[in-house]
Amino acid sequence: MNTLLSVIIPSFNEVGMIHKTSQTISRILEDNGISYELIFVNDGSTDSTWVKIRSETEHNSCIKGINFSRNFGKESAIYAGLFYSSGDCCVVIDCDLQHPPEKIVEMYRLWENGYEIIEGIKHSRGQNESRTHFFAAKCFYKIISRLTDIDMSRASDFKLLDRKAVNALLNIKEKNAFFRALSSWIGFKTTTVEFDVREREIGETKWSTWALVKYAVSSISSFSAAPMQIVSLLGSVMLLISLVLGGIALYQKATGTALEGFTTVIIINLFTGSIIMLSLGIIGYYISKIYDEIQGRPKYIVRGTCGDLKNTPKEPKDIL
Ligand code: UDP
Ligand code: MG
Repeated sequence: MNTLLSVIIPSFNEVGMIHKTSQTISRILEDNGISYELIFVNDGSTDSTWVKIRSETEHNSCIKGINFSRNFGKESAIYAGLFYSSGDCCVVIDCDLQHPPEKIVEMYRLWENGYEIIEGIKHSRGQNESRTHFFAAKCFYKIISRLTDIDMSRASDFKLLDRKAVNALLNIKEKNAFFRALSSWIGFKTTTVEFDVREREIGETKWSTWALVKYAVSSISSFSAAPMQIVSLLGSVMLLISLVLGGIALYQKATGTALEGFTTVIIINLFTGSIIMLSLGIIGYYISKIYDEIQGRPKYIVRGTCGDLKNTPKEPKDIL
């Protein structure tokens, strides 16, 4: 049986890594007799990443490239890679070799033994992480694990998916899809492979704190409407407080000491105001997400491709 493995590599400003990554991964796969295609997705890099990818495709016909019209984010790059892939199974791996490429072989062997999704699970996180980052990541994963019922604390985007799972993912039309959780949500026969996160060799992480916060909020809200329920909770708490304070105010009126209530009035006013604004913010956020989805804009726009890619779209409407 001749099977093909597609390796999807989202790349954003990775000019220093493209050659090394393609060399390392192709060598490992060739040594193990696995037929492969490497799909680099250039996510709107501002350096010459795309030029590098094109020069790689000229030397090795198994290497292919997709060029985005601008930066659409790693999630979009992963989905584009999956859409253009023609393998019987697909691996998603970072371009910076922080995910050990040797593990691809282990994942592939498990796939040959009948597993449909092989999740890369972090044995250890990178050493260079600050304490606040570590703490924030821990809180995020706690929340998301609760919402999805899947332990996400050590999850990563490094995983192998069978063609059936890839098609299932491609059929999900959500624009703000959260790949890491959705790939578990779709089910299928799953197993895990542990790996150690390596240090980045060249360049630096593309995630600013603000980008991480945005990613966390969008991922949580795509799996739950719980934040909207906070609005009702805050409302109930406010009602209770106003009942108590109302009682006190009435009592003071009855006993003729009503003027003293001024402080209470101010506090209540400010408190109610802030809660209403907070609640409107949460509702507004969900409405903007609905707006985003119904606009039906594509997850990404492709400017061009290189190498022999199967799904190359003929019309813009094919691009999802
Ligand atoms: N990446 C991307 N688009 C982005 C940001 C990152 O395609 O907008 C890619 C990046 O090139 C790398 C992978 O996603 O291959 C992981 O990014 P990074 O190493 O910056 O994240 P970290 O390892 O620090 O979580
Ligand atoms: Mg990295």
